[in-house]
Amino acid sequence: MAATSLPAAPVPATHSTLRDSHGRVIHDLRVSITDRCNYKCVYCRTGEEGAQYPELRIDEYLRLIEIFVGLGITKVRLTGGEPLLRRGIVELVRELAKLRALNGEPLDLAMTTNGHLLESLAAPLKAAGLNRVTVSMDAVDAGTFERITRVDGSFPTVLASIRAARAAGLTPVKINCVLLRGFNDDQIEGFARFAREEDVVVRFIEFMPLEEGRLWSPEIVVTLKEIVERIGRVLPLVELPAREASETARRYTFADGVGEIGIIAPVSQAFCGACSRVRLTSDGKIRTCLFSQVEHDLYGRMRAGESNDELRAYVVQTVQGKEARHHIGEPGFMKPSRSMVHIGG
Ligand code: SAM
Repeated sequence: MAATSLPAAPVPATHSTLRDSHGRVIHDLRVSITDRCNYKCVYCRTGEEGAQYPELRIDEYLRLIEIFVGLGITKVRLTGGEPLLRRGIVELVRELAKLRALNGEPLDLAMTTNGHLLESLAAPLKAAGLNRVTVSMDAVDAGTFERITRVDGSFPTVLASIRAARAAGLTPVKINCVLLRGFNDDQIEGFARFAREEDVVVRFIEFMPLEEGRLWSPEIVVTLKEIVERIGRVLPLVELPAREASETARRYTFADGVGEIGIIAPVSQAFCGACSRVRLTSDGKIRTCLFSQVEHDLYGRMRAGESNDELRAYVVQTVQGKEARHHIGEPGFMKPSRSMVHIGG
């Protein structure tokens, strides 16, 4: 059945001074702190390759992040690779929690993780100042989940971590699920129930051509429209208003108001016009778009002895050149040189 729409919420004012040449304000920084990962998800990695890029020291990430925050970043998401593999992660979060955005407010600190090491780290991360976690989970039954991650025993481990994150107050816990037709799209309805039973926000993400192998085709993408229709047949959905213009997920609750799901549709309903993000790779390169064909070596400049003022000027100039949009599915589309695990999802 079709979802009903509620009116859009007002867009909050932003304090960012980082703008691109298309008029977009950038206030969201994603930082990869390693491109190592302890899972080998079939749609992400070939299973053979490990880390490809060097990692910076934790204090070096901190210095670079401070540069961005001084220019208007209000939200920092730590990612990877698998960020919890990095020694010093709790200390990094503690230091980031001391930073203030230009409006004087603490940063919004989030992390995307596969959850494998989260059970014991959830409470220390929360105490250090992390606000929220997103845990990746591509199936709600153990067999399918472990076929995807290619790690035995990963399902109960991640489930325990999700519960530990909720108990620690890293809420709302969001679950990222990438759907692949014929592979795990039979999990859609189960995820809708899981969102309600486990009190988590499940967000389905359309599969993008960012994998190490060559799996992507338009036919394998399960689109927003299809997901909404399939869940709606079992549990009728009501669309929720956007909280901010740059929100990437279309959000829905169920007819009884219990639970939330979101759908991130970069392929079938691209949201580039409202993009507020830039990324820093684990080796200190700025990527202004997931699909950038060029990278900007911020760390190289720092290592060469540039001052913070010089680095700030470089960031401002780089952000101005942010791409207007991606070109997935168009003739001549070129995959970026790095896959998702090496960029930082
Ligand atoms: N290791 C962490 C994790 O598992 O969440 C962080 C890195 S992982 C690359 C970040 C997110 O990107 C995961 O939710 C993963 O499912 C998603 N992802 C990986 N490849 C993708 C693709 N080709 N299209 C869409 N999402 C993808």
